[in-house]
Amino acid sequence: MMNIVILKPHKEESLLRFHPWVFSGAISKIVLSKSYPHDAPQEGEIVQVADNNGKVLAVGHWQIGSIAVRILAFGVEQLPKTFWHTRIFEAWQLRQSLGLVREDNNTFRLIHGEGDFLPGLIVDVYNDTAVMQAHSIGMHLNRADIAQAIIDCVPVVKRVYYKSDDTLPFKAHVTGEKTGYLIGEAPKDTVWATENGLQFRIDWLNGQKTGFFVDQRENRALLEHYSYRRDVLNMFCYTGGFSVYALRGGAQSVTSVDVSAKAVELVKDNVAHNYPQTTNHSAIAADAFEFLNAEDKKYDLIVLDPPAFAKHRDAIQNALRGYRRLNAKGIEKIKPGGILFTFSCSQAIDKDMFRLAVLTAATQVGRKVRILHQLHQPADHPINIYHPEGEYLKGLVLSVE
Ligand code: SAH
Repeated sequence: MMNIVILKPHKEESLLRFHPWVFSGAISKIVLSKSYPHDAPQEGEIVQVADNNGKVLAVGHWQIGSIAVRILAFGVEQLPKTFWHTRIFEAWQLRQSLGLVREDNNTFRLIHGEGDFLPGLIVDVYNDTAVMQAHSIGMHLNRADIAQAIIDCVPVVKRVYYKSDDTLPFKAHVTGEKTGYLIGEAPKDTVWATENGLQFRIDWLNGQKTGFFVDQRENRALLEHYSYRRDVLNMFCYTGGFSVYALRGGAQSVTSVDVSAKAVELVKDNVAHNYPQTTNHSAIAADAFEFLNAEDKKYDLIVLDPPAFAKHRDAIQNALRGYRRLNAKGIEKIKPGGILFTFSCSQAIDKDMFRLAVLTAATQVGRKVRILHQLHQPADHPINIYHPEGEYLKGLVLSVE
């Protein structure tokens, strides 16, 4: 028997619309199952959610905090035995149908949380390795079943690495390891992941997030087409995704900048691996603002892909100031007729706010700016329409006169 979360009258409406979260304020009471040994549900356990009349509408992971339940399945009283396998197989089928599994592409996001109806779970695949992150204690507790389902359903994956030291709720009591191989062992040789025919060394052990930013794949491919004979500056380059595509596009020169010395090593490796003969790439470890302030040089094409400036809603105003300042600097450094690729991955900043910040920056600098493309996250990062919070990446390609 499971514990039952009973909602206040009418609070079931968002569930009937398939919103995947139950907020603590919507709960009327909790009915504990007869033999339950605690006086409240334990974080991460699977609970039933019922309307005020006791009709069970969904099951999900119990959490401590303002989001009290993250729904795993609607319209059932318990999870079917095949639950993890079914969800993961559906996600894998979607990635195949999107054309992401090819000889020249084995890098993709397999599970994008709520967007794949698995709230709190992220899985990226790099060649034969799946890197998995739990953002909830529920997913952490179910990690072994999830890893097994990945191996069973996704034939390209041979090992599952778990990396949740930075993603699990900060205050939660966590039992068991937060990192390590759940299935398979550390590879003996470097694993090169292929994205649109280019190869990248992914350091999932020490790298940021799962080791690579899969979400920029399509935007990098677009940049390749703008790079021919251009002087390109890739700010916040991380592993150098945009840099390597720019080189393939025939850039005259590429400069990669990141504050992290480790990232600069990775970008150097990645460029050398794909283009061993290249002499027109340089990588610099520097703070973006210091670099842009110190340099007089102008570029034909600049990429600005900073980390999320607003991690929470209360940081929005500061973040917008940051985006205005950064974009003003970027626009200043563009040669007349040049191009700016500018991004925000802050979930709390929507695309209208970001566009206004960029517009304000353009006005401040006094350059004539047109929008050529409006960019977003790719289809392997689907947005559950009932969970608009899953939309986070936005970008603009500007022509700057
Ligand atoms: N464009 C990259 C992803 C960027 S992630 C890609 O396509 O993979 C953001 C990067 O910004 C991280 O690598 C981080 O090290 C870097 N960063 C954070 N703060 C910075 C700063 N002040 N100056 C320069 N780089 C910074």
